[in-house]
Amino acid sequence: MIGRFFTFAKIPALACLCAALLLGGCGGGGAVTAEETKLVMGTVARLTVRADEITSQAALRDGLAVLTQTEHDADGAAIADLEAAAGTGEWREISPALYETLTLAQEVARRSDGAFDVTSGALTELWEQARMEKIPPSAEEIAAARTQVGYTSFELRSVEEGGQTRYEARLTKAGMKIDRGALIKGLALDGIRSTWQKADIKNALADLGTSSILGMGVNEAGEPWQIGIRNPRGERAGDALAVLPLSNEVLSASGDDERFFLYEGRRYHHLIDPRTGYPADTGLASVVVTLPLSAEDLPAWQGHMGLLSDMLSTAVFVLGPEAGRALLADFPPALVILIGTDGRLVGE
Ligand code: AMP
Ligand code: MG
Repeated sequence: MIGRFFTFAKIPALACLCAALLLGGCGGGGAVTAEETKLVMGTVARLTVRADEITSQAALRDGLAVLTQTEHDADGAAIADLEAAAGTGEWREISPALYETLTLAQEVARRSDGAFDVTSGALTELWEQARMEKIPPSAEEIAAARTQVGYTSFELRSVEEGGQTRYEARLTKAGMKIDRGALIKGLALDGIRSTWQKADIKNALADLGTSSILGMGVNEAGEPWQIGIRNPRGERAGDALAVLPLSNEVLSASGDDERFFLYEGRRYHHLIDPRTGYPADTGLASVVVTLPLSAEDLPAWQGHMGLLSDMLSTAVFVLGPEAGRALLADFPPALVILIGTDGRLVGE
């Protein structure tokens, strides 16, 4: 599978902090390439749409609106309400969309044997605090946080009442917290894809800080979008290990170079193995997963490939090469690129 991409190119950093609208590069049929960047979800999102001018500008506006809405929903009141009731045994009503997302997250948690766990909040918060202080938490703190984590203590149900369906969730242990950090960008990409497909956009790219990318159709040259795969051990932030073509696919990357601190010569990163309470240590520095946009054979996942690839890149990172590859076999055909802590590609 690795033969699909071309190695050792250097790409300039893609980031541009100011919002910009570029029009240019006429394709056929009066198409323009319109682009906009926005600081959202702690990253620089870059949207590119190729269509006629009015359509592409509307698509950019719609895409940005999805990003803002997804970010807003992520720290939503429904999650806070659910967490406030943790350990009381009480159910809390959640929206159908949140129910669907969390149900799919639970599916990946089960299949990854808890390596991916949306209830990791107590642990990920502890490690986020540690990153700020640049000192790892104590074994006691980790043990205490671990008692507040566990996907099997998170329940979802739908209740039929008077011809209506109500969706509910509960966290059965006190102090449990939901962390949607490992899936929120993928969720946003699914929203953008849906909006753009409804507007009949064929050729477009949504790049959420290079770790989550949606590529629809082709670029100005009529070729698949070209995506630089970051070298997690590169000397500069923009150093790419490879260039990967992306067309009607979604890509997610999880790496130990995104958020980390060094303490006594050791790297402590943000991808936590909920089963140990510590940053995953499986010899991987980065995992890139790409999935096709459509999954007709797996109706439960149809329309959720961004969400799925985001969850899978995190899950594979935590599981390591062997168990990670085995997990992918359960899902639509995925391309996976594994980069080891030595900065080299990990073969099959
Ligand atoms: P990503 O960059 O998509 O792999 O997501 C990383 C983020 O997901 C972290 O910053 C945490 O907020 C959260 N996270 C870390 N470890 C896990 C895990 N094992 N399962 C679920 N979410 C996690
Ligand atoms: Mg992820």
